[in-house]
Amino acid sequence: MSPIIDLHSHSYYSDGSLSPTELVTRAHAQGVKLLALTDHDETKGLAEAQEQAKKLGIHLVNGVEVSVSWQSKTIHIIGLGVDIDNPELQAGLKQIRDERVKRAKKIAEKMQKCGLENVWQEITEEVGFEAITRTHFARYLLARGHAKDMQQVFKRWLAPKGKAYVNGQWVALEQALAWIKQAGGQAVIAHPIRYRLTHAKLEELVKDFKQHGGVGIEVVGSYSNVKERSYVASLARRFGLLASVGSDFHSPGNPYIELGRNLTLPLETNAIWQDWPAYQDALQAVAS
Ligand code: AMP
Ligand code: MN
Ligand code: MN
Ligand code: MN
Repeated sequence: MSPIIDLHSHSYYSDGSLSPTELVTRAHAQGVKLLALTDHDETKGLAEAQEQAKKLGIHLVNGVEVSVSWQSKTIHIIGLGVDIDNPELQAGLKQIRDERVKRAKKIAEKMQKCGLENVWQEITEEVGFEAITRTHFARYLLARGHAKDMQQVFKRWLAPKGKAYVNGQWVALEQALAWIKQAGGQAVIAHPIRYRLTHAKLEELVKDFKQHGGVGIEVVGSYSNVKERSYVASLARRFGLLASVGSDFHSPGNPYIELGRNLTLPLETNAIWQDWPAYQDALQAVAS
């Protein structure tokens, strides 16, 4: 039996809704043996997550999901196994969070132009952290009845072409990769299918990523289908990248996304965790 692995998840230190303790507890209850907490541009939740992981006997990998601008598109790069005390990484993440706050102000202004009042004041009262994301605005709009569900609120308000969309000016791909490397981590392209790139563009991204030291790609996500999985698996193979898996879990209540669920890696890939001591431990744990 192989252990359940999930290397992409969020806590309330970015746009998840669970505390790190609740997240790790839920992963454990779902049978996950190896988990990464990967908040957007933020590592604050990791110490608490590590503590809870130790208590429950599951392995927690220190991770972060870094916002990158590549050819004026937003791409997410996950750093796995990063040293969270690395000063270059921390200064870099702080720079991105500052940009998040600037962008959030612009989003709030656009919403106010649409007739909503006190958005900035209310949202800063509700969101106590710097890693403010579009998800926070989505929840704010939903709570006030401006859309019926998450999909609709993004489509109408927050996605490109939405009424309050503001394109974030994140950091360059090479820059994010350098920070992750300096912090001793392995860089992984998150949810490659979600960027809606053509196959040619995605391959260009993979080449740039690999050239600047990236090593992995998320071959399996909780709602990627078989065809998408096998396409990304073939990309990984062709470009010599290691394969990762991640639910990108944010909150309970979404019937399609659960920690550790439906994340089996296609056989022909090389798993990023193959050489990790934590994986050997997890193997032992399921064998005994
Ligand atoms: P940001 O990094 O602030 O631009 O926010 C991006 C986050 O918004 C992603 O990490 C997702 O969690 C969330 N998101 C983006 N598009 C959607 C969508 N269509 N439905 C639900 N959540 C979304
Ligand atoms: Mn998110
Ligand atoms: Mn992402
Ligand atoms: Mn994510």
